Amino acid sequence: MKQTTRRNFIGKSAIAGIATFIALPALGGLLESFDTAIDTNQSPLKTGFGQQPLPYAYNALEPNIDAMTMDIHFNKHAAAYSKNVKEAAAAEGVDTTKPLEDVLAKVSKYTPKMRNNAGGHYNHELFWKLLSADTNTAPNAKLLAAINTSFGSIDEFKKQFTTAATSRFGSGWAWLIITTDKKLSIASTPNQDNPLMDIAEAKGFPLMGLDVWEHAYYLKYQNRRADYIAAFWKVLNWNTVNDRYNSI
Ligand code: MN
Repeated sequence: MKQTTRRNFIGKSAIAGIATFIALPALGGLLESFDTAIDTNQSPLKTGFGQQPLPYAYNALEPNIDAMTMDIHFNKHAAAYSKNVKEAAAAEGVDTTKPLEDVLAKVSKYTPKMRNNAGGHYNHELFWKLLSADTNTAPNAKLLAAINTSFGSIDEFKKQFTTAATSRFGSGWAWLIITTDKKLSIASTPNQDNPLMDIAEAKGFPLMGLDVWEHAYYLKYQNRRADYIAAFWKVLNWNTVNDRYNSI
């Protein structure tokens, strides 16, 4: 097997899978002794330039999100963002062994191709982790307290987030973020922008994001974005949101 092929194979399967389960210091040591060309920045909270494997089967989220949508969304749309951000990185002199977050923080200095695809890749890598076949996850006590403080109640939070997702005109994302003054806030961004970008209107660390591009729901829901958003709440993986909040 050629070296580049081997690296791609390891990077996309074994290491990416292990990264989810091993604490970061142990992982860093493992990777250094293994192959220094592999992304060492892939952790639950940092994003590399390659796709991590989808952490469940395409049909795992049925009937809320259908298998064909998941397959096409992951293997066509999201794969293209990853491919294109790597192309942009090569053309614009970006070190892809560093976290993608470094690019997002100064994305205004790069081309529109970088902005669109760095955002697209980051947003989708996060989005897959925010979905789960387990429909019984919930905010932990710490996050729930913060939601109650910021929005009054979990129901009011869901209502406001749903409004942001429903009213985003055209393609984009709705977000729950932590702002720089450590407050929870709801935001939305157009296209593949996100709150980590220096050009974002509302900046912060995204705890959760919802893809409201038509490619995320059209096969099953057609024009009924509101029904897709209602289904999203059923498959939202609150464990991921909790972990991200705990990390701050
Ligand atoms: Mn998408």
